[in-house]
Amino acid sequence: MRTSVTRTFSFEAAHQLPWHEGKCRRLHGHTYRLEVTVEGPVGDHGIVVDFADVKAVVEREVVDRYDHQFLNDFMDNPTAELLAAEIWKAVEAAKLGVSRIRLWETPDSFVELTP
Ligand SMILES: [Zn+2]
Repeated sequence: MRTSVTRTFSFEAAHQLPWHEGKCRRLHGHTYRLEVTVEGPVGDHGIVVDFADVKAVVEREVVDRYDHQFLNDFMDNPTAELLAAEIWKAVEAAKLGVSRIRLWETPDSFVELTP
């Protein structure tokens, strides 16, 4: 049996994709929804990880950084795929033991990253 815990976050950000031939070329925004999953053994206290620890890391490394920002200020080509990769690196660096992230760009479209 494998146990994983997931916490969700959301942030608002604007971007534009200059290479895009459709409407994504224009400046627009999204309410991004982020799911961060940590998998691991259930420890002595009966938890995989403290949800509060996940919240602290992700709010510091992701939400505080990108909320209400213009994503093109952070990267040249802020697709959901490349933004998710940046988020993965930031969360991974915090030694959270992340096993999956999902970044929802719209209510029906997400990017998923696993190791
Ligand atoms: Zn977009």
